[in-house]
Amino acid sequence: MALIVQKYGGTSVANPERIRNVARRVARYKAMGHQVVVVVSAMSGETNKLISLAKELMAEPDPRELDMIISTGEQVTIGLTALALIELGIKAKSYTGAQVKILTDDAYTKARILNIDKHKLKADLDAGYVCVVAGFQGEDANGNITTLGRGGSDTTGVALAAALGADECQIYTDVDGVYTTDPRVVPEARRLKSITFEEMLELASQGSKVLQIRSVEFAGKYKVKLRVLSSFEEEGDGTLITFEEEENMEQPIISGIAFNRDEAKITVLGVPDKPGIAYQILGPIADANIDVDMIIQNTGADGTTDFTFTVHKNEMNKALNILRDKAQSHIGAREISGDDKIAKVSVVGVGMRSHVGIASQMFRTLAEEGINIRMISTSEIKIAVVVDEKYLELAVRVLHKAFELDAA
Ligand code: ADP
Ligand code: ASP
Ligand code: MG
Repeated sequence: MALIVQKYGGTSVANPERIRNVARRVARYKAMGHQVVVVVSAMSGETNKLISLAKELMAEPDPRELDMIISTGEQVTIGLTALALIELGIKAKSYTGAQVKILTDDAYTKARILNIDKHKLKADLDAGYVCVVAGFQGEDANGNITTLGRGGSDTTGVALAAALGADECQIYTDVDGVYTTDPRVVPEARRLKSITFEEMLELASQGSKVLQIRSVEFAGKYKVKLRVLSSFEEEGDGTLITFEEEENMEQPIISGIAFNRDEAKITVLGVPDKPGIAYQILGPIADANIDVDMIIQNTGADGTTDFTFTVHKNEMNKALNILRDKAQSHIGAREISGDDKIAKVSVVGVGMRSHVGIASQMFRTLAEEGINIRMISTSEIKIAVVVDEKYLELAVRVLHKAFELDAA
């Protein structure tokens, strides 16, 4: 007997028939003698709909109230999924995040899980119930409802698996595993049988939304056995996230390409080139809990320098306002501007560690297509570039081909 956490995404619970399908799969696992915890997302499109509704009443919705609103999508699907299970003769109980007691910090719309109380779930599982838990949500220490950021049900799934000491966490979605890149953009993309945890972390952080990055972080920290599978197919092993590189005997140099349309670039021109400048620019941004991704500071000339960094598109205006209010006069910047028509493309692979020339191959491929690179950042296993948004898909396609990811 194993304890298995199964997470089903929005398309997998998009209508009653699909929810029945989920229930049938859970029933099969129960019939094999396993204990099952099910985590569900809202029906596909539902969270977007709720966000739009909120924005009709307030352009930049109050975050506490926004979380109150957008957490409701999952409350519907847990009830529906429990009904579908009960209809199949399976004992099932639904739980909101707060009912489980998934304790988070109070960073509304992007809260982090701090603790999960497993007692109720354990007792239910031991009594033969399937526990159906709402993804994407928790509650802070004061009992306010919080959400975990877009795609956050993945994190609920993995965090529950970690807390319960589950034998496996299965992420069921609308593709049958992790591909070399988003198969919706490059139809030639191939499914990977396995991918190292490090690579998956990098792909997720660079924008592959098949897994939310925090879910991968949890899996790494607590060594959760994590697999991505299709909820639309009966068979198939999906993609296993492995912890040992050696498990993956023949390492390709590049495993995958990720991209991200959600970032915006902020440029601070003509700041004095002296110690403390980065801190004065990024300190107030961090204080406002705005995540910064890429950062570039130019070499100073004439005693001044330019500073560029990227943030989430949703937070560009907030960041610009903070800089204009707090930093511009203080640090004496000549100009502060934002650009949200950018996109980031990243090639990822642990094989990069032992191979030179990957960056130059990437830059040559983009140059041959006349694609201008606006920013570059690298890590041991990744090279990321910012390009104009309109070139994104072209860039992904040509890189996918150049690195022969379409070849079996
Ligand atoms: P769910 O609603 O099940 O959480 P998501 O839409 O969040 O599903 O994630 C699955 C989607 O991720 C796929 O439909 C696919 O378009 C996209 N995706 C992006 N990169 C990849 C990748 N490397 N491999 C597989 N899917 C990817
Ligand atoms: N429903 C939430 C979203 O759309 C969480 C999730 O699907 O994982 O982002
Ligand atoms: Mg998702």
